[in-house]
Amino acid sequence: MSSAYEVVIGLEVHVELQTRSKIFCACPNRFGQSPNTDVCPVCLGLPGSLPVFNENVLHLAVKAALALNCLVASYSKFDRKTYFYPDLPKAYQISQYDLPLARNGRVDVFKDGKQVRSVGIDRLHMEEDAGKLLHDEGKNTSYVDYNRSGVPLVEIVTAPDLRSPEEARLFLEALKKILLYTEVSDCRMEEGSLRCDANVSLRVRGTKELGRKVEIKNMNSFKSVQKGLEYEVQRQESILQAGGTVFQETRRWAEEQAITLEMRSKEEEQDYRYFPEPDLPPLVIDELMLRQAAAAIPELPVQRNRRLIEIYGITSYQAEVLTSSKKLADYFEDTLQFHHHPAHVANWILGDVLSLQKSTAREMDLLKPAPENLAALVQLVDEGVISGRTAKEVMVETFHTGQHPRRIVQEKGLVQIRDENQVRELAVQAIETNPEAVQDYLAGNKKAIAFLVGQIMKATRGQANPQMAAAALKKELDG
Ligand code: ADP
Ligand code: ZN
Ligand code: MG
Repeated sequence: MSSAYEVVIGLEVHVELQTRSKIFCACPNRFGQSPNTDVCPVCLGLPGSLPVFNENVLHLAVKAALALNCLVASYSKFDRKTYFYPDLPKAYQISQYDLPLARNGRVDVFKDGKQVRSVGIDRLHMEEDAGKLLHDEGKNTSYVDYNRSGVPLVEIVTAPDLRSPEEARLFLEALKKILLYTEVSDCRMEEGSLRCDANVSLRVRGTKELGRKVEIKNMNSFKSVQKGLEYEVQRQESILQAGGTVFQETRRWAEEQAITLEMRSKEEEQDYRYFPEPDLPPLVIDELMLRQAAAAIPELPVQRNRRLIEIYGITSYQAEVLTSSKKLADYFEDTLQFHHHPAHVANWILGDVLSLQKSTAREMDLLKPAPENLAALVQLVDEGVISGRTAKEVMVETFHTGQHPRRIVQEKGLVQIRDENQVRELAVQAIETNPEAVQDYLAGNKKAIAFLVGQIMKATRGQANPQMAAAALKKELDG
């Protein structure tokens, strides 16, 4: 990207809320059912049916709004947004237009622990999701599944504050983390729980006026959002450099070809013929609701990250990994309740715990070993009862069986060999059986000690204390 143009990006993010039922009917809100099984007259848009607002939607939406530092309107309402599409049986979507639930929020975006941008949230509003079309190109047929029709959404619209495709991805990651921490949504992009449209324009660096924007749709991962934007920035730059003008339009990201394609010219607002939804009362949000939502917000990722570094003295990288999910951060702090050595516990989690976790389970739903077992294991190492190498074996065992590490160590006789006489005997043996290494050492190659220690560790299946073994070897050899 040459420096002649500045990139301007704003995002529109749709998030499905984690409620039990849909927004205006009692149908279950869940993913992956057989088509058209979670439906009723309301979400099928049958004549004569009437919407009833699910109050839990409001609770989650307010929670999200507060977590994004928005101002929640004390008075807001629903509006009809009219358009015709087969996945929208009423031919209008119930949304919020001129009086959205919340405005004027802010999300700070960090990279490698440093703030790179503070992004304004223009608005957050509630609306219903549409159904889903499935196209069978081979049969030249389309099917429609209304299970998703009426699933509650919030739409979050950022100000045009982002300045690069990478920043857009970092923003989405920060947003997702907040929504996961607050349990507003499961944010599973692959299931459509989080969807993002990206708006991008270029302007001559140093100028104030915004360039004409292009909206990109159909990106199904945060990486694709970044890639789609990078492609689009290049495309617009070439147009501008050639003296052309960028058309305001909606383009589709084609993942396999890694390009954006023309989709349609953007609808004008007047095409939607917004008007207040007559079948639903306006929303009055009182102090009590706000307080309840605020009370349900846990410590958010950025604050938690900062606190973990400050009070436990762990590195910013460790804190970053540990706060990647609330569950993992809780796991870390729960473990510290049983053994307060933050640096060591963090090391074990970032190392063995996470790699075992990844090799066995797809998600961090159930973190193993239990905090008290992890704590006991680290404590056994810290007390010198077992060596680090033995600890790795014990970890695998407690991870799979859930047995207490002390019991594993006892039953398998894994206690570290720290008896001086015993260690000396091991050293003598190693010296006798490895004359070449001994000669090496005596000839001045100090590294040969490491080899001899290795032999002792091997002979004792990792139970000897390596520092003591090295000392004993030196003592024997140096006389
Ligand atoms: P529209 O009326 O086309 O929906 P909005 O003003 O509502 O446009 O903005 C929609 C999204 O596009 C917001 O996220 C906003 O930040 C972003 N946006 C608006 N203008 C620009 C622009 N010139 N360049 C990049 N993004 C923009
Ligand atoms: Zn329904
Ligand atoms: Mg708009």
